[in-house]
Amino acid sequence: MALIVQKYGGTSVPDAERIKNVAQHIIDRRNGGDQLVVVVSAMGDTTDKLIKLAYQVTEPPSERELDALLSTGELVTSTLLTMALRHMGYEAISLSGAQAGIKTDANHSRARIVDIDPTRILRELEQGRIVIVAGFQGITDDMDVTTLGRGGSDTTAVALAASLKAAVCERYTDVEGIYTSDPHLVTEARRLREIGYEEMLELAAYGSKVMHPRAIELAGEFNVPILVASSFTDSPGTLIHGEVSMEVRNKMRSIAHDLDVAKIMVVGVPDRPGIAAVIFGPLAEAGISVDTIVQNASINNITDLTFTVTKSDLVKAMIVVEPIAMSIGARECVSDARLGTISIIGTGMQNTPGYAARMFSTLSKLGINIQLITTSEIRLTCIIEESRVKDAVRALHQAFQLDLEG
Ligand code: ASP
Ligand code: MG
Repeated sequence: MALIVQKYGGTSVPDAERIKNVAQHIIDRRNGGDQLVVVVSAMGDTTDKLIKLAYQVTEPPSERELDALLSTGELVTSTLLTMALRHMGYEAISLSGAQAGIKTDANHSRARIVDIDPTRILRELEQGRIVIVAGFQGITDDMDVTTLGRGGSDTTAVALAASLKAAVCERYTDVEGIYTSDPHLVTEARRLREIGYEEMLELAAYGSKVMHPRAIELAGEFNVPILVASSFTDSPGTLIHGEVSMEVRNKMRSIAHDLDVAKIMVVGVPDRPGIAAVIFGPLAEAGISVDTIVQNASINNITDLTFTVTKSDLVKAMIVVEPIAMSIGARECVSDARLGTISIIGTGMQNTPGYAARMFSTLSKLGINIQLITTSEIRLTCIIEESRVKDAVRALHQAFQLDLEG
């Protein structure tokens, strides 16, 4: 008998009917004899709706109250799912984040888990119950409810799996696993049988929406294997783990893309120490996360500073940056919201030259202009015009022969 943590995302539980389907899915697993802790997200787009509601009442809403409000989304799912299981004749109990022993710091809307006390969960499991935990939330030392940031239920699931030393964290969604590229875009995209934490982290950070990057990072740190699979089909899914075979590690694994990219250019800045600090400090304080940053080599002590943010943060970022740009004597501050990124990802890149050349020549054949390039050890990203992203993804998938079994 193994202890398994399962997680069902919002798209798996949009209505009562689908909640009953998930209950059946849980029961099928349970009948195999394993102990189950199940983490759930809010139904469908409940969280978005709750945020909208709060902003209709006041702007900005109190962070403490907003967290308490948003945490209710997950409580709705956990209680309904528990009722469904009990109706089907199975012993089950729902626990809020606080009841499940998830302690966090007091940073509302982006709290970090500081400790998990699994006593209550273990007690319920011993009683033979299936434990259903509301994801995305925790409690502070002062007993205030916190949330872990958007997409935070993945983090709850992985953290619980680590704390309970679960055999695996099964992450159920509406796709059959991790693919060589977005299967909606590339018909030949292939499901990967396995992928390592580092590659999956890059993939999650550069466009794949399947799992939250923070959860992958945590999984890597505590060596929690994650199985990503569909709750609708019997496909074996993709195993994210630390023991990916050498053969697979020597390859290029996937092409990620992200259409949520905007660029800000601070043009003609007098180059002196501290320029980056005056710009990026206030952006961080405003809660805007900056991705790629490029500073040109200066000519006659004048330089340009370019960086990217998400499209939804662009207006807010411009409001912060424009006055600073003027105060440090920049010539102008311009933005472009019609951008996207394409990334090739694979640990194979470390040992084999030629990946970059192949990527650039593929894009050049399509007449696509590369605006910015960034790299990590196992990733190469180009920022290009949004309208060309789809063509680029398809062409790169072909150029790197990702349709072939690897
Ligand atoms: N319901 C929360 C959100 O939509 C958490 C989650 O789905 O993981 O962000
Ligand atoms: Mg959600």
